Amino acid sequence: MGVALFWVSSRQRQSTGLPPGKVIYSDHNQWGKVETPLYDPTFNLTGKPDYLVENQEGLIPVEVKSRRLKAAPYDSHIYQIAAYCFLIDQTLGIRPPFGILHYSNQDIAIDYTRELEQSLIDLIREIRSQSRRRDLDRSHQSANRCRGCGYNSICDQALI
Ligand code: SF4
Repeated sequence: MGVALFWVSSRQRQSTGLPPGKVIYSDHNQWGKVETPLYDPTFNLTGKPDYLVENQEGLIPVEVKSRRLKAAPYDSHIYQIAAYCFLIDQTLGIRPPFGILHYSNQDIAIDYTRELEQSLIDLIREIRSQSRRRDLDRSHQSANRCRGCGYNSICDQALI
């Protein structure tokens, strides 16, 4: 299923273009741990960013990645941040201007644009419709694999 999702997201990137992100400095002391998952019933979407930052720019989700970033973030990481921004907007009524991908060597801000939001919604709809037709079936029983997967928030076959 991951391969199929990668194909879907790659195709969308060609048509809409995902924001590449920009390197930022973020004060880690401002990061607050998130305890409760966010849930949007419209898309049956759930997810929990690792941290939230509340500052003059708004409410910013942070996703921690243990690896180093060598080039641009993966599409799956960008969609993961987009899903958190979407969930914050839908559940708390506060639209984050961006989200942060925290890699071991740098922090990257991903702008939560209207285009990225629409790209996320299109991807969710495509995954759900193809999943219903069983074109996309999970090919494994590994919860750990799902735990580390960037599509976890939007995947309706995730094991966790
Ligand atoms: S969450 Fe699990 S089932 Fe869904 S795409 Fe990722 S690895 Fe596959």
